[in-house]
Amino acid sequence: MPPLKKILLVQYGHETNTFNPFPTTLERFGGKEKILTGNPLCDLESTLPVYREVLARPDILPVETVNAWANPWGRVSRETHEYVKEILRRKIRENGKIDGVLLTLHGAMVLEDDDDGEGDVLEFIRREAGPGVPVFAVLDLHANVTEKMLRNASVLIHFDTYPHIDIMDRVRESARLMLDTLDGKIHPVMAARKLPLLSEFLPTTEGIAKKFQTLALEYEKEPGVLTVSLAYGFFCADIRESGMCVVAVTDSDREKARKIADEFGRTVWAGRDLLQRSFSMIDEVLDDLKAHPENKPCVIADCCDNPGGGATGESTHILRALLKHGFEDSILAFMHGPELVEQAAKAGTGAEIDAAVGGKISPETDGEPFRCKARVTALTGELPRQGKVAALQVGKMHILVQSGNGQTWTPEGICACGLDVGKSGITVVKSTVHFRHAFEPLVRKIYSVAGPGMAPQKIRDVKLTRTRRPVYPLDDITDADAAGNNGALLFSPYSDTGG
Ligand SMILES: [Zn+2]
Repeated sequence: MPPLKKILLVQYGHETNTFNPFPTTLERFGGKEKILTGNPLCDLESTLPVYREVLARPDILPVETVNAWANPWGRVSRETHEYVKEILRRKIRENGKIDGVLLTLHGAMVLEDDDDGEGDVLEFIRREAGPGVPVFAVLDLHANVTEKMLRNASVLIHFDTYPHIDIMDRVRESARLMLDTLDGKIHPVMAARKLPLLSEFLPTTEGIAKKFQTLALEYEKEPGVLTVSLAYGFFCADIRESGMCVVAVTDSDREKARKIADEFGRTVWAGRDLLQRSFSMIDEVLDDLKAHPENKPCVIADCCDNPGGGATGESTHILRALLKHGFEDSILAFMHGPELVEQAAKAGTGAEIDAAVGGKISPETDGEPFRCKARVTALTGELPRQGKVAALQVGKMHILVQSGNGQTWTPEGICACGLDVGKSGITVVKSTVHFRHAFEPLVRKIYSVAGPGMAPQKIRDVKLTRTRRPVYPLDDITDADAAGNNGALLFSPYSDTGG
């Protein structure tokens, strides 16, 4: 029997918001143990079960390494990064020859002393595994693809959707392409086009982002094309190589990969005026609801306080605005407050407590804590993403406080407290886009609010100092090619060169 083919599996990533001054420490990854086993409080589920399922073949030996993920926050500590690399080094050396590497990364990780965390991971893997080994990575749609990533990976595949509902599909795609590559059925060749272009956070369910998603799928139907995807970048990671990037992978056809990356890149560039979003201010929204009560039930998305973008989830601005305008029939889901959850749990359901809601980590951004007498109406066990939730009632308002730091992705935590989004007047969520998938069917209207918070939504609201210039929309450029290096067409030297 021929020797087993060993495929290294790595899940390690972070979306770093460099405007958040607090470091993402080992603890925020759940500590050393959770770096191996996975962090149930983070937004990304483990992708390992899908890899295991696709790779279940008698001639394949999957080698599991790290499952290290933390929710978006400030720069990742060097200690965490070195710990992860140490485990990877040990696993690679223990196993001798590695035949392939499958990674789930985010693509917007910034270390405390290196702006390209995941580029460093890929460079490290490439050096340890050797030049001939296929290294495939699945990345978030909000990845900032860097030259180092492209120079060291053989294939990069981005999620096609936002809300990210195709994560496991992309993981399956990557694993299948790996098997076909190891079987000698395909020879992937990757080309990428970096654009001097920043995008705001657009859902792919409508408008220009939907068109781009459709276009990527159209390219994939062409003969010889293996995968085509578009990274929108994450402008809150203020690094030199922040921005959009098109990636095209074909079977052996370097010219075709180049042509698609170039053509698709030009289409994205032509649509650049449509990559900004509009938002409302909270007072406008509440005035609209006074004039149009038939818009309820509704969701108000507190986009700038989205923990999924590196905010605290502790902003009290919308809470105060609701009370000021007399909108008590509201649910707030979720305010971050592990100490408050503990205080409520000690007091027990039915008890009245003196609560201080929100505003602990960064009152200068989020507002002072909201102090009130509140009745504890429900307490949950550990929920994925949210951790433990305590429901506090203040007048007719329900404030749900979570011990975890996940964004409001689904209404599960709200239902677990016996509340109903469809019956409440207003539900405030701490999320930008991900909530839409589960909440849209439950309400009449969604309002996206950009208020104060640590996750800026408008490119012009932040002061970018490291992002490479010129860049659209901050600079008035009409020709992506004329932006020099920033509009470069790049190839992976570790893809097959068509032999
Ligand atoms: Zn994302």
